This record gives sequence, C-alpha cells and structure tokens, in this order.
Amino acid sequence: MYTTDGATWTQSAGLRKGVPTIGVVEPPVQLSPDVGDDHVYDVIVIGAGYAGLTATRDLTSQGKKTLLLEGRDRLGGRTWHATINGFNYEMGGTWVHWHMPHIYREVSLYGLQDDWIVTQIPGSKEDYTTFTAYGEQRNVSHDEEADIIGRAWRLFCNVDGDDLRQSWKYPFGTGQSPELMAKWDKLSCQDRFDQIKRRLNVEEQAVLEAFLLQMGGSSLDNMGLLNALHWWILGSHTPTGLNDIALHTRLRSGQSKLHRCMFEHAVSTGNLSYSFQTPVARIEDADGIVTVVTRDGTSHRAKSVISTVPLNVLSSIEFSPPLSQDKQAAAAEGSVNKCNKLHVDLNGPDWLSWGSMGSPGKGLIALFGDGLTAADNSHLVGFGPDPNTERGIQLDDIEAIKEAVKDLLPKEKAHEVIFNRIVYHDWNADEFAKGTWCYLPPNFITKYLSALQRPHGNVFFASGDFSDGWRGWIDGAVQVGMQTAKQVIDLQNKQQKTFTKTPVVNGINGINGV
Ligand SMILES: Cc1cc2nc3c(=O)[nH]c(=O)nc-3n(C[C@H](O)[C@H](O)[C@H](O)COP(=O)(O)OP(=O)(O)OC[C@H]3O[C@@H](n4cnc5c(N)ncnc54)[C@H](O)[C@@H]3O)c2cc1C
Repeated sequence: MYTTDGATWTQSAGLRKGVPTIGVVEPPVQLSPDVGDDHVYDVIVIGAGYAGLTATRDLTSQGKKTLLLEGRDRLGGRTWHATINGFNYEMGGTWVHWHMPHIYREVSLYGLQDDWIVTQIPGSKEDYTTFTAYGEQRNVSHDEEADIIGRAWRLFCNVDGDDLRQSWKYPFGTGQSPELMAKWDKLSCQDRFDQIKRRLNVEEQAVLEAFLLQMGGSSLDNMGLLNALHWWILGSHTPTGLNDIALHTRLRSGQSKLHRCMFEHAVSTGNLSYSFQTPVARIEDADGIVTVVTRDGTSHRAKSVISTVPLNVLSSIEFSPPLSQDKQAAAAEGSVNKCNKLHVDLNGPDWLSWGSMGSPGKGLIALFGDGLTAADNSHLVGFGPDPNTERGIQLDDIEAIKEAVKDLLPKEKAHEVIFNRIVYHDWNADEFAKGTWCYLPPNFITKYLSALQRPHGNVFFASGDFSDGWRGWIDGAVQVGMQTAKQVIDLQNKQQKTFTKTPVVNGINGINGV
C-alpha cells in the first residue's frame, strides 16, 4: 500500500511522491463498538513511532484500554521502510544493534534475531573509501579510514585525558557529576573542534568535520558537545565503537516489519482502539480527565495521555493548562538536526563496498554502499547538511542530488556512473517531524532534559528525543516508551486500589492481573 510520505525518481518516470510500504494501516480507524462519545479510555497514546508503539503494546497487554492516535497514514514515525522492486529502503532510522538493549529485546521478542543485513560488505570492485578534503581527493582502505576517523573522533571526545572512562562510566545512568556535565554542555562542537584542530592535518580536519556534521545535521556551532560525548560513551569509549554499533546492521525485512509485529501484538489483546490520519491539535487536562481534540474537532477522553510527538513538533499542540515555561522554552529551541538523508541506486554492483566522506561537499557529506538491489545494482545511502544552509540542497532538485553524488565519487569515475533510482523522504518539510534524529544544541541537556521528561498533570511525555540512553536513536524511543507505559500503569493501578479500597483480583479491567 502507498503512503503519502516519501518520493522516488527514475529516468523514465521522473519524480513521484508517495512510496509503497507495509507500514500503512488500512482501514485507518478502528474504535471498539462499545465506545460512545462519553467513553473514558485508560490511556490515549499520541504517535505510532517506536516510543508510541512500545507504550501501546505494553499498556494493552497489561489490560489498559488504549486509544492510539497518529497523524500519518502509517506506523513507525521517523523510522520506516519502503519496498520498491523488492528492495527495502530505510527512509529514516535504519541501523540497530544487539548493543542497543531495548530495541534488541524487540528484535528477539518477535523472532527477528537472524534477520540482519550488514552495511558496506567488502569485496566489490570499488572497495575503498574516498576522502574529499576541501576539493582534494584521496582513496584509502577501509582500515585506514577507520584509523583516521577513529583517531580524530577520540581526540575530539577525550576532554579529560582519560577518554571519559571514569568521569562518565555509565551511558544509561543519570548520576554523572552535574558540574562536569554543565562544563561540557556549555561548549559547542565548534568550540571543541577549535581546541584540537591544530593536532590534525587538513584531511583529518575535513573528515572529522564531515563525521560530526553527519552526526548532528547542523553547523558545528549549533551542535552541543555534550551530545557528542554521550554518543562516545555509548560507543564504549572506543575510537570505532559508535560506528561499529550504530552504522553496522539493519533488519533484512525492514523496520516496518517490526512495527507491524508490535502493532498486531497490541491489536491481539482486544484492548486497542486506533485512529490514523488523525493529527492531534489540543490537549486539555481538567478534573482528572484529559480531553484530546483532533484537528477535525473530534474529542477523545482518557485518564492519562502519553504524548510521543517529537521535540520539534511539541509546540504545534495546544495545551490547557499551558506547558510550564521550561518545557515551552525547550520545545522552542528544539533539536538542531536538519540533515538530509537519501538513497541512490547506481547501475551495476561495483559500488557495494565503497564509502566516502567529504567536507565541505556540494550537498552531501557522506555516501556509502548498503547492499545490492534485486537487479544487482549498487544501493548507496547519503547524508547531507541542512537544505537551508549554504551547502545544503533541496531534495526535489534531482540534478543537485546527482551533482552532490558525483562530487564525492572519485573524480576519474564520476562521469561514468548511471543513476537508476533516487529515493528519499523530506524530513525537514514533514509537519510531524520537523527535522531528523534529535541532536541537541549547547546548554540544552543540563537546562531542559529533566523538564522535558517531567509529566504535565495527567499528560506524560515519551520521545526518543529526550530519553536517557540512546537519545536520538531508535533504542532511546523504545526505552522511553517502555518506561512511560510502566509509570502510567503503576500510577493508575495505585489510584484504582485507593479508590476501590478493595483488593484488585484480576487487574483493573478484569482482563489481566498486572
Ligand atoms: C533520516 C533519519 C535517520 C535515522 N537513522 C537512525 C539510525 O540509523 N539508527 C537509529 O537508532 N536511529 C536513527 N534515527 C532516529 C530514530 O529514527 C528516532 O530516534 C526514532 O524513530 C524516534 O522515535 P519516536 O517514537 O520517539 O518518534 P517518532 O518516530 O517521530 O514518532 C512520533 C510520532 O508522532 C506522530 N505525531 C507527531 N505529531 C502528531 C500530532 N500532532 N498528532 C498525532 N500524531 C503526531 C508522528 O507522525 C510520529 O509517528 C534516524 C532518524 C531519521 C529521521
């Protein structure tokens, strides 16, 4: 089935909006027949991305009557795949790993533990990495690439001379020294880059810059250093750890397959109502009941609401009573990541093992092989800067995409390649995302993270954008969805016990004991 999201270009058909995905939910609305206008759900979950799906599955399987409201026509939010001519194109979140514990639990729960594809398989004709540093090109082996990037990345993150091994031991913990966190949070990636750049040659500087821009999708001075340091710790304090975990394996069946498993699990409990293509406009919390008003004016009521809308979308929903000042300020500032992601299929299998990094680039800063299509063509994934900056490109400008790709290819081969297909979703123009994965600016984490995680009356917030562990990643979304569902279940069960003053024998809805 086609979603209205995404776009694909071929020479013969030109640019077409909308791509096929198994993530589309049809029919889009399924409300329980016994639900009238004055019905009060246990919980309304807003958003069917990983955070929302995890929360919904956990709530429904523990007996909570839940309504899932989603603005789009499909599951998955910022993570989903399109299938075109038998190939799965990951349009957003892609790489997951067994060192990402929360998403790996989902992978194994639904029997997908053998369902992996490795990115950048060696052995194709063009089996090297091309560095483009301020116009100068050099091809290096993948081992040399890992050494160069690893050395520069380590230098960048080694702010205490000990690779943060003692001062920031536990990446999922919240008990770090507030003084150290505040000290590092004041700095931008540009500040840190300036501190170390004289210890790097010109090529290393360009490659580190491209590496950082690929992480944060903004200018280095907009990107907070603390966010980068956190990802260093998540990469196990090692030069190649982050890349080995976060850019290595993806699901062969595609991310939307896992979403379907989670969604169908929730449906199978009999406790789920849902409505897709239903954007939420307003949330009103009064007299112990939360009323959620959708854009078409329909109201739904619940004891609790879990909002999983992305940080950059939060301010588009009206709250009554209004959100606290700190939450509002955090939502106004938001994630700075506005990068472009795209897929390019080049004719023939030669580019399967090739990779590239380039700064400043002509619209892309990284491009690398990620599997062969069914017709044995090379599938490449590329990342580029914010389209609204000097070096950015608009994704519907196909000629600009081709030029950006050629700029990263080895100069002597760039004119030979044939573009078979280009696929993308424009996340920056997407009203339900307003950007890509979360990357936070300087002074944000220490100032706003706990405010964003705090409930607002009976409204709870769960977004991968402000989780504690893999913040900005799929794993963080699953983590926060799971934690928030438990928080709500525990609270409601406690309130129910106090209210009835009699022991709960078989769960509060008489379905499953919790
Ligand atoms: C291009 C790109 C590449 C990425 N690559 C990776 C990667 O390789 N590995 C990785 O781990 N992570 C990656 N990420 C990050 C990962 O995709 C996200 O962190 C994760 O999907 C966030 O999940 P979430 O549930 O918190 O938010 P979302 O997935 O954004 O879910 C929120 C949901 O709320 C819905 N919504 C918003 N507003 C409303 C409204 N008003 N009413 C109703 N519904 C609404 C949205 O439509 C959406 O479905 C990438 C992200 C992008 C965009």
